[in-house]
Amino acid sequence: MQRYSIFSIARNALTNHKNWHTAWRSPEPKPAYDVVVVGAGGHGLGTAYYLAKEHGITNVAVLEKGWLGGGNTGRNTTIIRSNYLYDESAKLYDHSVKLWEGLTGELNYNVMFSPRGVMMLAHNVHDVQVFKRHVYANRLNGVDNEWLTAEQAKAFCPPLSIDPGARYPVVGAALQRRGGTARHDAVAWGYARGADARGVDVIQNCEVTGIDVEGGRVTGVQTTRGAIRAKKVAIVAAGHTSVLCTMAGFRMPLESVPLQALVSEPMKPVFPCVVMSNAVHAYLSQSDKGELVIGAGTDQYVSYSQRGGVQILEHTLEAILELFPIFSRCRMLRQWGGIVDVTPDRSPIIGRTPVENLFVNCGWGTGGFKATPGSAHVFAHTVAKGEPHPINAPYTLDRFKTGRLIDEAAAAAVAH
Ligand SMILES: Cc1cc2nc3c(=O)[nH]c(=O)nc-3n(C[C@H](O)[C@H](O)[C@H](O)COP(=O)(O)OP(=O)(O)OC[C@H]3O[C@@H](n4cnc5c(N)ncnc54)[C@H](O)[C@@H]3O)c2cc1C
Repeated sequence: MQRYSIFSIARNALTNHKNWHTAWRSPEPKPAYDVVVVGAGGHGLGTAYYLAKEHGITNVAVLEKGWLGGGNTGRNTTIIRSNYLYDESAKLYDHSVKLWEGLTGELNYNVMFSPRGVMMLAHNVHDVQVFKRHVYANRLNGVDNEWLTAEQAKAFCPPLSIDPGARYPVVGAALQRRGGTARHDAVAWGYARGADARGVDVIQNCEVTGIDVEGGRVTGVQTTRGAIRAKKVAIVAAGHTSVLCTMAGFRMPLESVPLQALVSEPMKPVFPCVVMSNAVHAYLSQSDKGELVIGAGTDQYVSYSQRGGVQILEHTLEAILELFPIFSRCRMLRQWGGIVDVTPDRSPIIGRTPVENLFVNCGWGTGGFKATPGSAHVFAHTVAKGEPHPINAPYTLDRFKTGRLIDEAAAAAVAH
């Protein structure tokens, strides 16, 4: 693995950047692989990394139709937390938070994980009941979460207005101190570099256009760069999962909708944590560059358009200014959208499909960035062994037939 000393960085600067080693290769696709992963977001790249590192499966290609990390991984607001309600969720998301805590060291790549605390605001009696239920359930599962009064919430996040005359007054908050943020691109880059160093081919500008199935078993994929045979195929394509599964002949219980976000002009450090308000529907943190990172809600209709919309912007900024009037004169810099794949119970699907040796990891909806390391880790196990890891065993596609849902939709109404 390439390491740079201060001298080599200075030498490269003086030689006009001619002798840099690329962080990963750009190989031509081989005719056949043991595993083809479709989608080079954090989950797909992480899956390839753990396949190589933990299961010794290195004859792997990650195929990406655009550029690495250009999907939701590079578009999200990077909130990391594990304070979900149900036992299954606590196990999955906390597995991830534990991996986040050591990820920079694991990858020898600074993913800038910053456990600055995620605070979820309560605005009414219903919120208080729901969040207290989360606090107690989380503690039973060994996941940190604590209840704060409005005054304690303000002490934790001084820019927060707790004016009781507000339309949606803050009446308390649930705080997960181990939650926080990370640098989204770095996660994709770190996993890509680690996978590449172990022999994985990361192939960009290679769209999968067909999935070959013979006798109920996957045999390969068709791509814009030719046919590739594969013993196993793993679809990790977020908002485009249902398109790919249709190619393999089955339908998924997913809806794809745009989710929008925006950032402000940069400013000096002023915002110490992450704050979310499900009721007024906005969430906020400050990036290391100084921009306020603001998340909005999903569009009301299914679509593959990655554009931002003025009405969502207005609604979100109204909510932010109600909570943080201090930012009323701050200008916004840019907005964008990403296509998220939403399941009926707002929990992911990680496992087998009706086609043998074809696996799927999807349905993360508005909240899968936080799960990147944990999801990739258990999915690599599933693909390598052909059966789920105990942590993702409940996250089957079948649950929508059997009714064994993991209903975080009803539990929280929002899942960033
Ligand atoms: C605005 C926004 C804010 C969000 N905020 C948060 C947050 O704060 N916290 C959180 O936990 N989550 C958040 N999320 C959700 C999170 O971003 C996703 O759940 C997560 O990044 C999904 O990662 P992924 O690797 O599965 O998908 P992606 O990063 O989308 O990767 C999938 C890849 O598959 C590729 N692909 C698709 N079709 C094909 C094909 N046919 N052939 C080849 N490649 C293909 C795509 O180009 C893409 O690069 C947010 C999402 C958005 C859009």
